[in-house]
Amino acid sequence: MLATTNAGKIREISGILAGAPVELETLDRHPGIPEPEETGSTFAENARLKALYYSRATREPAVADDSGLEIAALDNAPGIHSARWHGTDYAHKFDVIYRELRARGLRTSAARFVCHVAVADGGRVIFEADGLVAGEIAPEPRGTRGFGYDPIFFYPPYGCTLAEVDGERKAAVSHRGIAFRALREWLLMNCVSP
Ligand code: IMP
Repeated sequence: MLATTNAGKIREISGILAGAPVELETLDRHPGIPEPEETGSTFAENARLKALYYSRATREPAVADDSGLEIAALDNAPGIHSARWHGTDYAHKFDVIYRELRARGLRTSAARFVCHVAVADGGRVIFEADGLVAGEIAPEPRGTRGFGYDPIFFYPPYGCTLAEVDGERKAAVSHRGIAFRALREWLLMNCVSP
């Protein structure tokens, strides 16, 4: 059971786990489970907390990830608060980021996407891994692919933002790609079927 309803994440994770010995079913198949409070102070703590919570609630093995964008010049904000930081309208969130950078006399900053994935079953975390991709804030939003902060995440080796490449190219280098490929390897070695 994949503990998310974020369509962007589901699309990417299904692609990365294609061919692994699992049948992916998402929270949409378990309506009515209230979201847990993400009280952790790190991506790892929140991923573990969500995996344990959903595995208890569904009585199935559960995979959860916690991810976000860290902007160096903004003291690593929005970090674990990425999803709801300054609301859920990304055009507005981008405006806030550019405004906060300008307030510091900057047009850009080093930035990174971070992802932690955890699998829980029977009240225990049975697997975890993390992934990270380093880049910088683009001078302006570009591209319509991907989701979330992708249009402002410039990835120097590609010379463009992660919203300007297709899902396969993004997953080849992304934080989620790295973390979930580790999960894929683990599933292949252990042949479990969450
Ligand atoms: P979570 O669902 O609590 O893990 O929050 C993840 C949030 O981080 C998303 O809603 C996005 O705002 C941001 N985020 C995580 N991964 C990505 C990505 O690959 N591209 C763009 N934004 C991302």
